[in-house]
Amino acid sequence: RTETLCLVRWCLRDRPKKAGSCQSTFNGVHWHRRHQRFQARVCFEGRCHYTGYFSNDTEAACAFDAKLRAICTDPVRLKKSLNFPTKAEASYEEPLSERRSRGLKKSSQNSAKDVESFQHLQHRFSKSPQASEFEIVNIPSQSRVDALFQPRGSKSVGLPLQLKSSTNRNKNSGECYAFQRTSGYDGMVLVLIALDCDMIWMVPGSEVSQTSLWITLGSKRDKAWRVSQVGLVLAEYFRKGTVPHVPLQDALMQCGDNHIVEEHSHAQLASVLGSVGLRLHRPPNVYYDVVDSVLSWQEHEWRVQEKATHMWSHGRYGANLRKSGGCLGPRAYAQTDFDILIVSLLDVSDRLLGIFLFPSCVLAKRRLVGNNHKSVQLYLYPPWSQPKPPAVAARHSWQLDHFVDLRSWKGKDFHLDPSSMESLTELLDKLLDNPAQAYSPEWPVTHRFPMWKFKDLAELLVEEGLVESFSDFVTPQDPPDEWFTLAHEEEYYRGFVENSLDPVRWRRIGFTQRPDHRALVRRTRLEVAGTLLTARLALETGLACNTAGGTHHAHRAWGSGYTALNDLAVTSKVLLQEGVVSRILICDLDVHQGDGTAEILREDAQAFTLSVHCKDNFPFGFKGMTHLGHDKSDLDVGLAKGTGDEVFLSTISEHLLGALDDFRPDLVLYDAGVDIHVDDDLGNLCISWDGLRKREDLVINACLSKRIPIACVIGGGYDRDPRHLAHRHGAVHRVAHEAWRLSVRLPDGSFVVGDLAVHSSRGTGPHDALQRTWATQQRCRPTPQLPWPQLRKDLSTLALSLLNFGRVDAGLHRRLHDAGERAARSLSRAQARDCCSAMLEPYKVLIRVCC
Ligand SMILES: [Zn+2]
Repeated sequence: RTETLCLVRWCLRDRPKKAGSCQSTFNGVHWHRRHQRFQARVCFEGRCHYTGYFSNDTEAACAFDAKLRAICTDPVRLKKSLNFPTKAEASYEEPLSERRSRGLKKSSQNSAKDVESFQHLQHRFSKSPQASEFEIVNIPSQSRVDALFQPRGSKSVGLPLQLKSSTNRNKNSGECYAFQRTSGYDGMVLVLIALDCDMIWMVPGSEVSQTSLWITLGSKRDKAWRVSQVGLVLAEYFRKGTVPHVPLQDALMQCGDNHIVEEHSHAQLASVLGSVGLRLHRPPNVYYDVVDSVLSWQEHEWRVQEKATHMWSHGRYGANLRKSGGCLGPRAYAQTDFDILIVSLLDVSDRLLGIFLFPSCVLAKRRLVGNNHKSVQLYLYPPWSQPKPPAVAARHSWQLDHFVDLRSWKGKDFHLDPSSMESLTELLDKLLDNPAQAYSPEWPVTHRFPMWKFKDLAELLVEEGLVESFSDFVTPQDPPDEWFTLAHEEEYYRGFVENSLDPVRWRRIGFTQRPDHRALVRRTRLEVAGTLLTARLALETGLACNTAGGTHHAHRAWGSGYTALNDLAVTSKVLLQEGVVSRILICDLDVHQGDGTAEILREDAQAFTLSVHCKDNFPFGFKGMTHLGHDKSDLDVGLAKGTGDEVFLSTISEHLLGALDDFRPDLVLYDAGVDIHVDDDLGNLCISWDGLRKREDLVINACLSKRIPIACVIGGGYDRDPRHLAHRHGAVHRVAHEAWRLSVRLPDGSFVVGDLAVHSSRGTGPHDALQRTWATQQRCRPTPQLPWPQLRKDLSTLALSLLNFGRVDAGLHRRLHDAGERAARSLSRAQARDCCSAMLEPYKVLIRVCC
């Protein structure tokens, strides 16, 4: 309590003191030597207020508090300065937005002051005769050197200057200037500038050891350091050479010790990466807080945050993942701040031992960047210094996937040994695995097929907030060859992968122009793996969407219409063979007929192919290609050119609902091609935006209402404008997202899909799942405490939704109980009672079903 605290402080203060050490640690309280008493002084907005003299410092501190409360209403200042704040004053938390704006204001004031002091110096110097011979060059603010004094036009060396400015602190009594942070400028000339009068002091930085420096006019210090002819003194310093000269390039990099280490590691890193054909460079004259350099390879560019570390204690290495947040203090990096984090491990002589190279999405997945408000310390364990406790080693084992051992590297101009080279290239390959880019390799811009649309779509989904970040995309693994040969002839598949198809077959596919064959094969195989993964996720959760897929023209032994491998057919074949499903419906609503899928699955009674398309589009009667257009789906509905929304939607509704009822599939693969859109470059149907959205709504909800899992792929779409195209392809994702979001709120027995299902399927506990669900619904981050009514409702929904998925197992009972208990711990007694009775509701349902 304040009184007790006061008493304790008073006792401490009132110990018998040694003569001459009557110091007080209270704010604003000083020992006045002449009066032999304590004095309280409040400095506020540039003015000093005195409150008199006191025999003990506690009284003085109380007087200080009273005065400060009287003149200042800013709660931040009160919290910071008061000696005995009340509970309310001490617990004041400034809103983040206000802290931010205050920080910005302060930093803009500071930078304005920087500019002003440089101008001041420049002005004084320009009047001196030396100005014809020398010049003062401003150095960008990130460097420790503020300015360089050098011979005019010199590109070689100059005298480094450190500028400090101040205004008169006390207008009432005496002329006094205070300069902050004045120590540690060895090797520079410290230039102290009084902004409100025409005075400049200069001294070599090595002669100043005080962190803050006071200069009283007329004092010894003032007389020794005051400079009247700026040019003359600077030229003298320059000629004498007591302060070493530095080249401009060094001045730009002139930093603290740890930065010098980073410079050293940067140089080594650049030469290592250079040996595998990558360029690590600093963008000219740009010094960002969060990006140190740029790594470029072919047309790719990554923004790099570099860290260098020597061994910390216990044989481990580490890096502090934080950036400066102004007055907010150190902050965690955001995921978008940089693309790669490279941590160099150095030995005592700064030789590079190895590097960790982490893509930012990997760090985000581990919550090391992005989600924290505070900064993070990342402990790193290279292979040669693994932690002894097996649990710790296991916890950090993921790091080793991102490590390159460089101990055998002999330095600049030497080659890497083969094994380091291999692990480095492997890491770089992983960088190209960015989910947004996986489906979109390098591609000729003039090509009819818009290969870039997959990347555009992924980016749009993140931009629109449907997916929180790139790391939240579920990404497919490299698929085995056996999958493909289930649907394709082995000879054709090999030919495609190994680039040994004859030109005629390449022309049929439409990919005669392909800058990087390997990249094309990679993305095509991944696309198929992506659709299969989507189908598996749909089986698990009810609904899932791919950001690619729908390659329905690819036949068993040849590709066609910009499709080489048929993802719909491969997915069906694999799932049927595995016995995961016994009936699959392929609902193909692309403007083009799904001829390849129809051909491959013709004999499969377990797969039903439905295609609603325009009968005046490819593959029918296309440029005299008579071999095309003969493959019949199980149900083909050809619409005439120019068919609009109404007929289109009623046709789908009739045939799809019919097929769902008659065939009763275990899974629907939905090809949501957007080339039906009226503005599409190739499609001949005239479907409006509204019609497109209604189609997605109709298909997705038809399946969900019948409790049939549905996996959506994006299908075809052609537009020269990438934004338009991505936006159209986004329709199916938007509708799916909405269906997903809303379905959580259905407490009745209807097919419940939703965030809960996803989050619990990701292996998180129900409590966590609830938090995340609730947070997504509220469009905010997870909060440690849920409002009780919401939690209560969600717990019942969770129980119900898990029931509906047939996921009732023995462990669920326990997990729900734990979730309730954990929630109850943060509640009051009355709320806890309420909690217990509420928990019973879902339990009753559970028990009924389990028994
Ligand atoms: Zn199409």
